[in-house]
Amino acid sequence: MRKYLCPMCNGQTVVKNPAGSLWQQCPMCEGNGHIEGQAGRRPAWYTIQLVANSAAAATTNATGSIQILASEDFEWQFVMAAYTDARLLITVIDNSSGKPLVIAPNQNSNQGIVPIALFAGNAQLPFPIRPSYRIPKNNTLTIIITDQSGAANTLNLALYGNSVTEQSPAQTKAA
Ligand SMILES: [Zn+2]
Repeated sequence: MRKYLCPMCNGQTVVKNPAGSLWQQCPMCEGNGHIEGQAGRRPAWYTIQLVANSAAAATTNATGSIQILASEDFEWQFVMAAYTDARLLITVIDNSSGKPLVIAPNQNSNQGIVPIALFAGNAQLPFPIRPSYRIPKNNTLTIIITDQSGAANTLNLALYGNSVTEQSPAQTKAA
């Protein structure tokens, strides 16, 4: 987080009292001498549509990816889904660590899949991610679904949260 020199005490951490007779802790920066900039946040949705169909063996599974913006982290807060049939299993993999991380809890230790209804809510009752999960900018989430309904199953998945803008570490300078 970027830090700015406190404009009231100019980094001295103390200011004179109103009478000018005593020094007191700077009330603006609470004696730190600097003020931290707030990261910019704005609402953001990331969506994906996938179709899986277990009536045709070749398309039982469908895989797609969600690309996070190159310039802004994504603070994931809610997950929502609409689907043809609830008999749909889902796995979400966060690739940002360099080592795939399965976000969805493992029901099947080999595939790490859970039914869609246990993973996502809808727009009226979205499932909250607690605590919010921050995905670094310019990374991808891999989404894998497996249909068990025996027919074409279309999933629309929406991740809601905040896009977060702040200085990159290379530009950050402590006061
Ligand atoms: Zn100050």
